Amino acid sequence: METPVTDIEKQRLVLSYEEKLTLLKATNYVKNRLLEQKMRERELQWHTKESELHENEIAMLNILEDARALEEELEKQRSHLDLIIASMGEGLLLIDEIFRITLINAKAAALLGLRAEDAKGKDMRTVVMVWQGDELIADKNRPATRAFALGKTTTASVTDNFYYQTSGREKFPVSFTISPLVQEKGVKSVIIVFRDATEEKVLDEARRNFMSLASHQLRTPLTAVRWYTELLMEKGMGTLNEAQTKFVQQIAGGASRLGDTINLLLSIARVEGGALEINPQPITIDDFTKTIIEELAPIAKKDKVALILNEPVPSIPSISIDPAMLREVMTNIVGNAIRYSREKGTATISLAAGEKEATVSVTDTGIGIPASAHARVFEKFFRADNAVKKVPEGTGLGLSLANSLVSLWNGKLWFTSKEGEGSTFYFTIPYQGIQEKRRGKPLA
Ligand code: ADP
Repeated sequence: METPVTDIEKQRLVLSYEEKLTLLKATNYVKNRLLEQKMRERELQWHTKESELHENEIAMLNILEDARALEEELEKQRSHLDLIIASMGEGLLLIDEIFRITLINAKAAALLGLRAEDAKGKDMRTVVMVWQGDELIADKNRPATRAFALGKTTTASVTDNFYYQTSGREKFPVSFTISPLVQEKGVKSVIIVFRDATEEKVLDEARRNFMSLASHQLRTPLTAVRWYTELLMEKGMGTLNEAQTKFVQQIAGGASRLGDTINLLLSIARVEGGALEINPQPITIDDFTKTIIEELAPIAKKDKVALILNEPVPSIPSISIDPAMLREVMTNIVGNAIRYSREKGTATISLAAGEKEATVSVTDTGIGIPASAHARVFEKFFRADNAVKKVPEGTGLGLSLANSLVSLWNGKLWFTSKEGEGSTFYFTIPYQGIQEKRRGKPLA
């Protein structure tokens, strides 16, 4: 049941005009505050967005600026590189995998007698013919083909006898370096840097002619000196007194050393001129080494050096190699180990059978090689100061010859050494051996 509303209560429910106004004002006030707060929040959000946008804009500008700087740097480097390539003293060719010439510098164009614009894009094999001596090299054997196939740098010096020939230039000698540019999926292009070796060739031939001429002309009178000293020593011309015997012995010793030097010079001239005759025979390396040790034993004994073959000797398959070449290399290296050893020192020869090659190493306990001389040991006529002091009469030719001979059978020759402590010389002989070469002359 509804409770009746009293009059007083009715009066209370009816709001006075003032009250209504106040209420309205209050409502409006609250509404306005709420609106203001919203506006402020929006403004704040807007500001945040705006500053985010601004930051993004700055970041974009920075990136753009960096990119521009990078581009400028690249452009600078590119033009530097162009300048270097253009002003190089050597000819430069860049060849892609189908042998197209993609880059040719001014020097290369000039050396080949071609216009760079004409050569660019052409197959190098149709533009440049490659010869080795008198033999025109087939495409599959071109040094660049091999650089592509093997992914290895190939170099050829004047003594390798390479020649280029083009429509614009007669056959001319070159020396070159061909470097593959190895990328993820193999070799995609090679760089050929080459030089006209005409002048070098002339000099090299003159040097070789001089060497062989001098050697021949020195040899003939020397044979006479040896012959007559032998005659004197054998008392063919009567008995010599003590002083005369001593002098004749000195002459014989000097003539013998001079003969050895001339032979070394002659052998080097033959090897470097590609005029060495090669007669391979199946050789058992351990037996051969034992023979060399027996031959050098008297010298070792005289110098009071123990000459040892390191045991156990591994079994090495017989190798088809020229015994005269192997003898020259071994006697030079073992001979040095004895000569540069100290009294009561040792020279030890070790043999090792690798997968594809045998390695011979000779260790001595001698004077060693000063670090400053390491890079020059295989140079012709080079002798380190400590070696000159110990053995004044050396020539500095033996190792140079040994090095050339080892290279001929595709082996390697190297050493480790410390002055005052000794040296170890190593050389390898591939089981593949060496190919026969009938034309030419043997080692002197
Ligand atoms: P040579 O012995 O006549 O001087 P080589 O060509 O045989 O000529 O050797 C060149 C130089 O290498 C030597 O003069 C010497 O300085 C150094 N050398 C070679 N072998 C040895 C060695 N076993 N110990 C110390 N030095 C060596």
